[in-house]
Amino acid sequence: MLGDEYIELRKTVEAFAREVVAPVIGDYYERCEFPYDIVRKMGAMGLFGLPVPEEYGGMGGDYFALCLALEELARVDSSVAITLEAAVSLGAMPILRFGTAEQKEHWLPKLASGEMLGAFGLTEPGGGSDVPGGMRTTAVLDGGEWVIDGTKAFITNSGTDITGVVAVAAITGKNGAKPEISTILVPSGTPGFTVSKKYSKVGWSASDTRELSFSGCRVPEENLLGERGRGYAQFLQTLDEGRVAIAALSVGLAQGCVDESVRYVGERTAFGNAIGRYQAIQFKIADMEARVHTARLAYYHAAERMLAGLPFKKEAAIAKLVSSNAAMDNARDATQIFGGYGFMNEFPVGRFYRDAKILEIGEGTSEVQRMLIARELGLGA
Ligand SMILES: Cc1cc2nc3c(=O)[nH]c(=O)nc-3n(C[C@H](O)[C@H](O)[C@H](O)COP(=O)(O)OP(=O)(O)OC[C@H]3O[C@@H](n4cnc5c(N)ncnc54)[C@H](O)[C@@H]3O)c2cc1C
Repeated sequence: MLGDEYIELRKTVEAFAREVVAPVIGDYYERCEFPYDIVRKMGAMGLFGLPVPEEYGGMGGDYFALCLALEELARVDSSVAITLEAAVSLGAMPILRFGTAEQKEHWLPKLASGEMLGAFGLTEPGGGSDVPGGMRTTAVLDGGEWVIDGTKAFITNSGTDITGVVAVAAITGKNGAKPEISTILVPSGTPGFTVSKKYSKVGWSASDTRELSFSGCRVPEENLLGERGRGYAQFLQTLDEGRVAIAALSVGLAQGCVDESVRYVGERTAFGNAIGRYQAIQFKIADMEARVHTARLAYYHAAERMLAGLPFKKEAAIAKLVSSNAAMDNARDATQIFGGYGFMNEFPVGRFYRDAKILEIGEGTSEVQRMLIARELGLGA
């Protein structure tokens, strides 16, 4: 059973998604336009500060509260949900978890209010699954400054008008035979830091995703996030938590498919009956509901362990694997139930279909989740 505060939060975000996001997001999506107005309202509601302590301007809640908000937003739209997920889980949380007192005081109040967005630059054109193997970006200390050179690919929230900082993972030396990886905070607008134009994407069309390049980009030595050489451990922890958030977002999309389908099958008729009278359709929706229910339990369980301070790597990987599967399967089935209208962008299920696939790729592909689960079982390397 959820506590009263969680239930209240869920209701508030559900109403916001239905009343504020749903009527306008389809147009933003068609225009591939970032929804500044919606993001500003989400900031005013405190959503960007949900798991951030009050002393840094946050709501003083926890990560599960963020997950509930993501689920409710994604029931209606995933571009808005991923903007929140990346801003908090990848933008603010690494600074909260690993930053110095000065870094937290400087960045967190602006990130928690939604006035500024943060991003996390890990993936590179040469590889996202095998991060150490594919990483080419370097940062070298020179005269009290880090000099960064390299390219990052597919970075969410990195080029909006309100993006303020990107945490960049870079090779800062050698640790035996392995690269030493550190994370460095690079403010937007730093000379030598170039943000490319937005990618043309299959889905998440109203979210901001860019390639970033660094050429002799200099930032103060103090912009190192946490300790030198801890970058690998930092992003492993960030991604474990992020997977629970992406699982919640996936459950939201899968639930949105059920919501839309239940409504539609009562209205649409074929062969003299509402199509919801046909058992083939009922069974499809029953399977969709079963998937979303079990996926929700999986992310609740992972979040519960995370908040209790218990190991949750395997549970987070399982939650992400099953919920992204549920989102893909439900999006396919909902589109089928809508027939030709399901293939039209004016209906939310068309958007759900386009938005579902990335859930099996971002923040660790499904294959990577299986690798993590197998490793936790003592199998493989
Ligand atoms: C819209 C979008 C937003 C994103 N946002 C961010 C962001 O904000 N920050 C960020 O750092 N990254 C971001 N990413 C990057 C994302 O996390 C990566 O795309 C993802 O981790 C996969 O990496 P890759 O694309 O390099 O694929 P690759 O690593 O090249 O993988 C290609 C294929 O090979 C498979 N594969 C790889 N290794 C193995 C193996 N050992 N066994 C079996 N199969 C394997 C993979 O599962 C995949 O199917 C984003 C991506 C997208 C598309």
